[in-house]
Amino acid sequence: PLVLGIETSCDETGVGIVRGHTLLADAVASSVDEHARFGGVVPEVASRAHLEAMVPTVQRACETAGVALHDVDAIAVTAGPGLAGALLVGVASAKALALSLGKPLYGVNHLAAHVAVDQLEHGALPDPCLALLVSGGHSSLLRVDDVTERVTPLGSTIDDAAGEAFDKVARLLGLPFPGGPHIDRAARDGSSVYVDFPRGLTSRRDLERHRFDFSFSGLKTAVARWVEAREAAGEPVPVADVAASFQEAVCDVLTRKAIDAAAAEGIDDILIGGGVAANSRLRVLAEERAAQKGIRVRVPRPGLCTDNGAMVAALGAEMVARGRAPSALDLPADSSMSVELVQA
Ligand code: ATP
Ligand code: MG
Ligand code: FE
Repeated sequence: PLVLGIETSCDETGVGIVRGHTLLADAVASSVDEHARFGGVVPEVASRAHLEAMVPTVQRACETAGVALHDVDAIAVTAGPGLAGALLVGVASAKALALSLGKPLYGVNHLAAHVAVDQLEHGALPDPCLALLVSGGHSSLLRVDDVTERVTPLGSTIDDAAGEAFDKVARLLGLPFPGGPHIDRAARDGSSVYVDFPRGLTSRRDLERHRFDFSFSGLKTAVARWVEAREAAGEPVPVADVAASFQEAVCDVLTRKAIDAAAAEGIDDILIGGGVAANSRLRVLAEERAAQKGIRVRVPRPGLCTDNGAMVAALGAEMVARGRAPSALDLPADSSMSVELVQA
């Protein structure tokens, strides 16, 4: 099926077009530069930017794909979770398209879409698979039995998301927003064992209650204290070494818990998605450690890891292919949509 997908849950206006597992267009307009001076995404700014970018981004996607709107078989849209006002722009636009074109509408879960996108790169998802989703707003381990209807959370962050930790630590180190890519780059010239930062929720006691949960706020505080102590002593902060040591602490915990979860569930395939999956160290460490356990790792290319419309189209196409009924045309945007609810 030819499906157009719309994503507006945060600061990216994404419109993707796919035919089955084939990516035809992935147009993304980001308002990230407008948020940079605030050091984080400002919801009102994001909503307005989506409104301005929507029509040109739909047009750009159609041009790239070489298809006309009336050719598509279905419209898919992120129904949640995300910023309420931002989601509303996408949902309203998708409804308008579906209604005017007379095509079915699929309101889908953003997290499931981050998983489904990998089909565009590596083909059909293995059922079941274990998904590690790490972005600016989420850090979750999910058991995925069927990405169109059965997704079960095994654990998630109890405080900051992994990407949020990257962004906050980058700020501490004087690196620009969003910080993930800058830390990744700075870390290449640093030592990952320079500082032994804490690994959240890995003590024996924590593992009893939070085996597959994450915590990154203690790590962020530890980095802040370390940097402050250096500055108080009048010594320069070795940015590359701190970046590498921080990154190692995050990637160590993420990979360890993902592999433990896969082993506990008897699953041989791990899929990593979300913006932090673009991290070069995470990709290498996950591969290395999983290989030792005979577990395969799939990570989409970085451009498909961060928010985009293709991931929504990919999930929509899978729903059409599996014969799922479309969503109602009055489907709501659901800012706190549960990960277990794949379709609105
Ligand atoms: P949501 O959480 O709702 O999906 P989001 O906009 O935060 O929204 P993404 O676009 O998937 O989600 O991810 C952005 C996050 O990914 C930011 O926190 C950014 O710092 C982080 N990120 C991007 N590239 C890298 C990288 N190479 N290393 C580490 N983090 C990265
Ligand atoms: Mg984003
Ligand atoms: Fe996302």
